[in-house]
Amino acid sequence: MVIIYCKRREEPYKQLFENAEIAIWNENFSDVHRYLMRLRKQGVTDLGAYLHENAHLIETLVSSVKVRKVNKASLKMFEAQSESQLLGSIQNVFGPGAREIFIEEVCAIWEGHDVFRAEASLRTFNGKVLTVIISLPVPKAEHGFRSIPVSILDITERKESEDLIWRQANFDTLTQLPNRKLFADRLGQEIKKSKRSGASFALLFIDIDNFKRINDTFGHGKGDGLLREFALRITASVRESDTVGRQGGDEFCIILSEVNDHCIVEKIIQKLLSALAIPFQLGENSVTISASIGISLYPKDTDKVEQLYQFADRAMYGAKNAGRNRHSYFSDTQINATHDDSTQVH
Ligand code: GH3
Ligand code: MG
Repeated sequence: MVIIYCKRREEPYKQLFENAEIAIWNENFSDVHRYLMRLRKQGVTDLGAYLHENAHLIETLVSSVKVRKVNKASLKMFEAQSESQLLGSIQNVFGPGAREIFIEEVCAIWEGHDVFRAEASLRTFNGKVLTVIISLPVPKAEHGFRSIPVSILDITERKESEDLIWRQANFDTLTQLPNRKLFADRLGQEIKKSKRSGASFALLFIDIDNFKRINDTFGHGKGDGLLREFALRITASVRESDTVGRQGGDEFCIILSEVNDHCIVEKIIQKLLSALAIPFQLGENSVTISASIGISLYPKDTDKVEQLYQFADRAMYGAKNAGRNRHSYFSDTQINATHDDSTQVH
């Protein structure tokens, strides 16, 4: 009588499991739970630290989890032909980071959380990479570990469109460099980092000389191509730890981080100028351009974001007014003049 009653009660849940739109796996964690109980009896208190020191145990724990059943939505999500195919090769769906997520999962069980929830990267049987949210209720009683419903929600599309929106908001579409907004964030972070470490950095404003002539002579499309190549060249001239951004138009900026020695700033600027001196190929035409660079120094000139921008901008206009194709430090009373304007078309 009791058995019949229980079966009737379970029926709607069985139907929900089978027909749910979301992938659900029924997993047996009993062995994991027993293992954790044993560790607790042995006096282990910090499971995370214990697993870190005894990394070989992680594989033992992983292999003791039994996926008992998967629903129809799981077969669709993982592009599997049948339940037996998915159950037989379930390890194939786990992507990079699965081990770390498993450790978080057993730690959540160990600490008696109500639920465990994590974002993970999984793979379908056809190799498609999925971003999913894995969640499971952590049972309160031992018998609950025999059958844990683990839900897997596919958020790949949502994630991709969020990433795209984030990229559009933070990167320049023409050059793929950080835009004005992201660059300002990075500059703020650089100030915080330098305040902590006591390091100095330089902010460079670079504006191409007479760029309008390029557009007027070769058209906007070729001008775009030059801006893209310009972005590649300045990025290749600085260190990987430096930040390059596009402020807009033909104006770019660079954070040269940790330049306690003035010679390093000079060396990088010379490298930049040499890279820009090589003619740019615009279709059949070879074009030589020049640029004017303004430099402000943290903390020598100021430790304020707005002033660093203003000072680098002012120094850049100083370089323009002094004849272009040169660099100028905000703090310099005399502008470093080297050449005359050399933007020319061959
Ligand atoms: P200067 O030496 O004083 O810098 O003169 P300039 O001709 O370079 O003029 P300025 O820097 O004041 O203006 C930059 C020009 O760049 C203005 C605009 O016609 C052009 N421009 C702005 N954005 C783009 C873009 O995305 N693509 C192209 N091709 N041209 C752009
Ligand atoms: Mg310009």
